[in-house]
Amino acid sequence: MKYFKKVLALVLTLAFVISLVPGVYGEENDTTTDHVHDYIAQVIKEASHTENGLLRYTCLCNDFYEEETEALGHNYVADVAKEASCTENGVIIYSCSCGKSYEEKIEAQGHNYVIIEHTEPTQEVDGITVYACSVCSNEYTETKEHEDKYVAKMYICAKRGVSPLGHMWVYIENISNQPIEVGVYTVPIGQGVSIGAFGLTRADGIGIYYNVEAYTANKYGLKNVVCMQENLTKSDLEKVSQKVRNNNFWDPIILNCMGIAFSIWNSGASTKLISLVFPVFGRLQMLMHPHIDEINMYYPTESQVYKQKGIGQDARLENVSENTLSHGF
Ligand SMILES: [Zn+2]
Ligand SMILES: [Zn+2]
Ligand SMILES: [Zn+2]
Repeated sequence: MKYFKKVLALVLTLAFVISLVPGVYGEENDTTTDHVHDYIAQVIKEASHTENGLLRYTCLCNDFYEEETEALGHNYVADVAKEASCTENGVIIYSCSCGKSYEEKIEAQGHNYVIIEHTEPTQEVDGITVYACSVCSNEYTETKEHEDKYVAKMYICAKRGVSPLGHMWVYIENISNQPIEVGVYTVPIGQGVSIGAFGLTRADGIGIYYNVEAYTANKYGLKNVVCMQENLTKSDLEKVSQKVRNNNFWDPIILNCMGIAFSIWNSGASTKLISLVFPVFGRLQMLMHPHIDEINMYYPTESQVYKQKGIGQDARLENVSENTLSHGF
């Protein structure tokens, strides 16, 4: 007990002494008597681009609390890996320093065509419109046909000479892009056909022959001619073709080739010619019109030389005998 009393007295004395020190009581009493945490931050986990980080605040007293730090997020840098062309998509690659990346396509915009050339169609030449892309220079051409385009060139030719006779014939050249019909003969693309009437000089009989002149002129030569030329539209050619089908004759009145040749020519040409008994008068008419002095006819094969048999619906082709082709005209 004695000891207890001593301690009590000491404590009381201390309390009394402390109470005498100004400012010890009151609010300042907590700072000295209660512990004030003093936290020191420590990184437990660094924040990455995608994951939050963690900070721990610890006091010397071991009290601590934790706080998350926000993920940093990616920092993408764009790189054009492939430029878009007019027709192919391009690619942009976005990549982050962490290795994460994604792609985005650059939409192809299609060609941007502008007209760089344009011509209107004529009866002789198709019109064209050339389109070119202002970006990549890709080009394409549209063609437009004249509604009354020429499909053939028609010639009428006469041999010149001292004789009042002399052969006359029509030559029709296909200038279209498809085969054309002349009488009962089909003229392939790029070829022509000569049409002439013969009397008894040909072994295969009187009337219309196809390609005798063209074949023999190429084989035996042809000099001293006069020709007129006109272009034929599709409807002109149909009239000429009908005339050929229906004119498988040898002129019964003037007994020469002129009447048949002139009537075929006249059925499609705008410059009309008049049969005047002798071919020489036909030739003189031709010389008064614009004319040319030579003609190059397509060289047909022997199997392309025919005699027409029948007329109109009954008209048909028959190959000629060798005898027909063994001399000129
Ligand atoms: Zn503390
Ligand atoms: Zn990242
Ligand atoms: Zn283009």
